[in-house]
Amino acid sequence: MNRVAVVGSGPAGFYTILRILKKRAVHVDLFEALPVPYGLTRFGVAPDHPEVRNCQERFAEVAGSPHFRFYGNTTVGKDVSVSQLLQNYHAVVFAYGAETSRGLNVPGSQLPGVISARDFVGWYNGEPAKQGLKFTLDRTEDVSIVGNGNVALDVARVLLRQPDDLRSTDMPEHAIAALTKSTVKKVHIVGRRGPVQSAFTTKELRELLVEPQVQLDPIVNLTEYIELAKPLGRAEKRKMELLLKGSTSPSAQRTWSLDFMQSPSEFKGEGDLLQSIEWTINTFAPGSKSDVVPTEKSVTTPTDLAVLSIGYKSVELPGMKEAGMTFIKDKGILENHRGHVTGVPGAFAAGWLKTGPTGVIASTMMDAFSVGDEVVSYLESVANTKLPGADDLDLPYAVSWNDWLEIDRQEIDRGKSYGKPREKFVSVPDMLNAL
Ligand SMILES: Cc1cc2nc3c(=O)[nH]c(=O)nc-3n(C[C@H](O)[C@H](O)[C@H](O)COP(=O)(O)OP(=O)(O)OC[C@H]3O[C@@H](n4cnc5c(N)ncnc54)[C@H](O)[C@@H]3O)c2cc1C
Repeated sequence: MNRVAVVGSGPAGFYTILRILKKRAVHVDLFEALPVPYGLTRFGVAPDHPEVRNCQERFAEVAGSPHFRFYGNTTVGKDVSVSQLLQNYHAVVFAYGAETSRGLNVPGSQLPGVISARDFVGWYNGEPAKQGLKFTLDRTEDVSIVGNGNVALDVARVLLRQPDDLRSTDMPEHAIAALTKSTVKKVHIVGRRGPVQSAFTTKELRELLVEPQVQLDPIVNLTEYIELAKPLGRAEKRKMELLLKGSTSPSAQRTWSLDFMQSPSEFKGEGDLLQSIEWTINTFAPGSKSDVVPTEKSVTTPTDLAVLSIGYKSVELPGMKEAGMTFIKDKGILENHRGHVTGVPGAFAAGWLKTGPTGVIASTMMDAFSVGDEVVSYLESVANTKLPGADDLDLPYAVSWNDWLEIDRQEIDRGKSYGKPREKFVSVPDMLNAL
């Protein structure tokens, strides 16, 4: 039977395995850095969107296959090398996502009050590596979010909602406690282009607009921007109608704004404290309805906490170069053709590592299915090839699927006393101690 290794247990890893196992009887080993599976569906998707996590049930079914084995708590490139995998498996699928955030090369962006949305989201979702994040919501009134995709709106919603409304979600208690003490009064969501070019979707916008006790400030020059961008597509039209309608919440305790055509030019602080952000005002490039260029004008917004939501980047694993793989740094992807890693037969890339960090779970799934098909065709061509090594790797600290099921059971149990679906373990030692 062919042996396949998959690196990363997010949607890309699991959907690729699902497809392979559906088409061919192979043995699959799934390597995951954390003791717990599911990637961003556990640590990225907002806690108040539990329906998005339903895919985890499908992943658990895949893991129930007798030909599937889980090596959790096992980082490829550290606990097991890339070359070991290439020697011991007929095919290796790299699907380890895009774990770092894109930064901003702007003065002051190193101040402690400037954090990435990915870190903030990981913090409120209980991701172990993000628990040391330094910010003080009980001394914060103004938050500016740079970037206006759906993740920016997720962050704004978490900051603006009544914390009591989050108590029934699986948001960990430490995050609920910090949000309960929060003194945030205003959240600015700032995009470098206009409202019609904004990346958030209607569903996420509507959710914030109907949030009780939260008020959207009127958007400056909205009608002008809409006129300029005409003709609009159907989805754009619907989004603009919602923006024009705005929200009415007379008893609002918190407000938010959608500011457009601005890019941060300096994060200003005193000592370590962030105090304001200076923004360059942009204008549309001559002859363009969507590209922008900076002007000489600027505005300054008081800001105690800045959250950068401007995209992610994959990282190269140690040993990839030596194995003959090319990591394209500026795009943050592993060079590949239809998932086949260039120059290394039997190596594949899937998910955000293959496509770049864009798209939702559904698009990641479709792409992973196509990579699964490529893996199956490849395996057909190497069916009886003898591997240099076909040994089970000696990984004494690995967490098995049954171990994960025990962690899962305990988290669900811990959640019962709080009336929530689960209370996550938020550190790796706590996860391992549970076993
Ligand atoms: C904040 C945020 C919110 C989102 N919300 C939604 C949403 O509401 N709805 C939606 O449809 N999509 C959402 N998305 C998009 C969705 O999460 C992605 O499309 C999808 O998770 C990408 O899948 P992936 O498997 O490529 O990466 P990931 O989900 O990141 O999985 C990668 C896995 O690889 C593991 N890993 C990393 N390095 C190693 C290593 N060296 N060795 C072993 N394992 C490793 C990681 O721990 C992780 O488990 C969101 C994304 C973000 C960032």
